[in-house]
Amino acid sequence: MSRSTKIVATIGPASTDFDVLVKMIRAGVDVVRLNFSHGKAQDHIDRARLVREAAAECGREVAIMADMQGPKIRVGKFENSKIELVNGDKFILDAKWGENGELGNQDRVGLDYKALPQDVRPDDKLLLNDGLIVLVVDKVIGSEIYTTVKIGGELSNNKGINRQGGGLTAPALTAKDMEDIKTAMSFQCDYLAISFPKSSTDMEMARTLANIAGEPYGHKPMMIAKIERAEAIPVLQEILDASDGIMVARGDLAVEVGNAAVPALQKRMIRMARESNKLAITATQMMESMIFNAVPTRAEVSDVANAVLDGTDAVMTSAETASGRYPIETVEMMAAICVEAEQSEYNKLDADFLNATFTRIDQSIAYAALFTAHHLEVKAIVALTESGSTALWMSRHNIDTPIYALTPSVLTERKASLYRNVKAFNLAQAGDSATVMRQAEELLVARGIVKKDDIIVVTWGSRMGYAGGTNALRIVKVGQVVNK
Ligand code: PGA
Ligand code: MN
Repeated sequence: MSRSTKIVATIGPASTDFDVLVKMIRAGVDVVRLNFSHGKAQDHIDRARLVREAAAECGREVAIMADMQGPKIRVGKFENSKIELVNGDKFILDAKWGENGELGNQDRVGLDYKALPQDVRPDDKLLLNDGLIVLVVDKVIGSEIYTTVKIGGELSNNKGINRQGGGLTAPALTAKDMEDIKTAMSFQCDYLAISFPKSSTDMEMARTLANIAGEPYGHKPMMIAKIERAEAIPVLQEILDASDGIMVARGDLAVEVGNAAVPALQKRMIRMARESNKLAITATQMMESMIFNAVPTRAEVSDVANAVLDGTDAVMTSAETASGRYPIETVEMMAAICVEAEQSEYNKLDADFLNATFTRIDQSIAYAALFTAHHLEVKAIVALTESGSTALWMSRHNIDTPIYALTPSVLTERKASLYRNVKAFNLAQAGDSATVMRQAEELLVARGIVKKDDIIVVTWGSRMGYAGGTNALRIVKVGQVVNK
């Protein structure tokens, strides 16, 4: 059964293995995420090579997403690795603690973000460990934040801190991120995800740094903005305009805006991304219980299916595939849920499509192809494309007809791994349009996608091989002679 929604899988200790990766890719992984919050530069370089090797073994292109840590604020380490906080306890977060190697204890712990004491006020709520622990600020004296434990629990080394409502001044790109961008560009990551951006400026700066680091390789990655700060919500459109896609980063977002606000925000973010011709990835805790169990909960199944119905390009795994017990089963299960959800009556061409206004020629052609496919018995939509932009336009609307991006560029092929309902294959595109179209037909027939007399819709640019130049559409019966 073919699947439109893509799967992004984070890899880590549980999946950094050639055989496991091959099995995961065969089970449906389209994009591999390298999480730069963990590990050293060399680990990521080694992992990227392993992914490319595993993809080659499977005979397909898989995109690599390098995910920057960003200004995630963390507590320091404890004398005994962890403490137990009880409701009503007093506890101090001390930005200076640890400067001389002091470890945390029952009274206080250090912070990796030294400016936090300046950013918080009495009565602020600080959420630790993804919101499992809540501290209320009593007062701030110098480097010390005095708090009372509102919801206690176990607090272990290096757990994250968020402030409810957002408002922390930390810039989106840390010194570590700037180094990590260079590492990621050295293996030509296809996607670069930026954590905690709060404006278009953050994304523009990240893109500039990436493009500079990518210059020696002639490589420019697609930029993904992780939406996980309260401040990012009101400026979502400007962040989208400065990015190639967004991640609904529900882990940190839920802590900042409150759990209950997230489902509606997810719908809004995905819709806005699609309307802006940008990509959307839905992330975090999608199959959380599969870290330990071989089957997901009913609620997790519904969550993945609902993200599909919301129109996400991809669903993502985190710890499930990075450190969980069932990385392969998680991917298999997600793939099956996506396929089923895509069959739903709620997953049809949206009404908005008919009211869309076109601003570009390639966009008009893309929509004309969708319209034809929707009304005629069309087996496949085929975009002969250099940059993949026509296929991207086409994939912003739900349609049952599969979209094939045939491209001479391996980079376009990899990037398209994330586009919903798009499958990309390599096609050289040398020669006139009639020749290329015949080659395209042959490729689709050879792969068993179409057979003689099937109708396909083909788009291309009259200056073939140039990016963004699509200006032609042809409705073809497979096997009929095509003239120039
Ligand atoms: P993270 O981002 O896993 O890097 O924290 C995703 C999220 O916050 O949901
Ligand atoms: Mn996050």
